[in-house]
Amino acid sequence: MRTPYVNSRLAPMGTTIFAEMSALAAATGSINLGQGFPDTDGPEEVKRAAAEAVLSGRGNQYPPGPGIPELRTAVADHQKRFYGLDLDPDSEVLVTAGATEAIAAAMLALLEPGDEVVAFEPYYDSYAACIAMAGGVRVPVQLRPPTFRPDLDALRAAITDRTRLLLLNTPHNPTGMVLTRDESEAIAQLAIERDLLVVTDEVYEHLTYGPEHIPLATLPGMRERTVTISSAGKTFSFTGWKIGWVTAPPELVSAVRSAKQFLTYVSGGPFQYATATALALPDEYYTTLREDLRGKRDLLADGLEAAGFEVFRPDGTYFITTDISSLSDEDGMAFCRALPERCGVVAVPNLVFYDDKVASRSLVRFAFCKQSDKLREAIDRLSGLRSLL
Ligand SMILES: *Cc1c(COP(=O)(O)O)cnc(C)c1O
Repeated sequence: MRTPYVNSRLAPMGTTIFAEMSALAAATGSINLGQGFPDTDGPEEVKRAAAEAVLSGRGNQYPPGPGIPELRTAVADHQKRFYGLDLDPDSEVLVTAGATEAIAAAMLALLEPGDEVVAFEPYYDSYAACIAMAGGVRVPVQLRPPTFRPDLDALRAAITDRTRLLLLNTPHNPTGMVLTRDESEAIAQLAIERDLLVVTDEVYEHLTYGPEHIPLATLPGMRERTVTISSAGKTFSFTGWKIGWVTAPPELVSAVRSAKQFLTYVSGGPFQYATATALALPDEYYTTLREDLRGKRDLLADGLEAAGFEVFRPDGTYFITTDISSLSDEDGMAFCRALPERCGVVAVPNLVFYDDKVASRSLVRFAFCKQSDKLREAIDRLSGLRSLL
């Protein structure tokens, strides 16, 4: 029998780092600032809406393939309220099993084997895997510290005749970079000039702490070529629910749906109802979430600085990237593997988000979507780190 069993497209992907680090956190009783999930749930009324959808029997059987109409309408209303975009809920919105399935379905639907996908490096770990599963070829354009701003000349140079699409992510995980209007316009210009599709992962759309989030689809000439992806996980602090959505013109939605229907077909019936309720929350909900996270960003960033890390304060997301060079000669992987034992804190090495293991060698990511007391405790534990190294 042929071994290894896993095929050559997936073999290089290994196992996601989060499994190892979360297991380490549990085994050592560490504070887990590795994986990006909040340690408090979203709003009570949203939970009740999920429970109600189960108890009333509304949400317990297969929902419609594109998602329940209530949720598709709520997504369209949200795009209108925050960005002035007019979407037809029937033909321009598709509900998915989290943003993760939306990314997978978009790659499987839009790529021919050999097509190139230009994406910022570091990338969210599912991008490389999904591009590979679709037979595509990833072409990284590196974001470099201290600002992690995109190099637009490098982006232009990365585009070839084989480029099918740009896979963007703003606000950007793990760097926290938020594309400015000028950058977004320059990228749009490139996409139009080279006639490229754009798939944009905007799951952190509401988590910005200064610069405002600009959806690529709002720029002139972009709506017709852009597949926008978002999800309820980060915005409403229900990462376990896995309700995501795609918004795009009808032909693109229909393309993505042709892959999605054979992945999960549908998912999360009750949570679709609850997410419709969540999206309709008043503006104050969104403002409060942002202000709360801004405070936590500053708390953890200050603490990490005091502990001796070089801190790249993020404009968005709930992650802080640091450089450990001033503390240790270890690479990020060794540092993160030792950190729980040394001081009871878990972080993740950014090198798992890079092809370039040299540039990313000393970068380490911490999540701040945790209760303030827990962040303070983590800072306290990290404050003794220097004397241990
Ligand atoms: C968390 C995350 C996702 C996954 O979202 P789900 O809705 O949980 O599938 C996708 N992209 C980025 C950049 C993320 O950080």
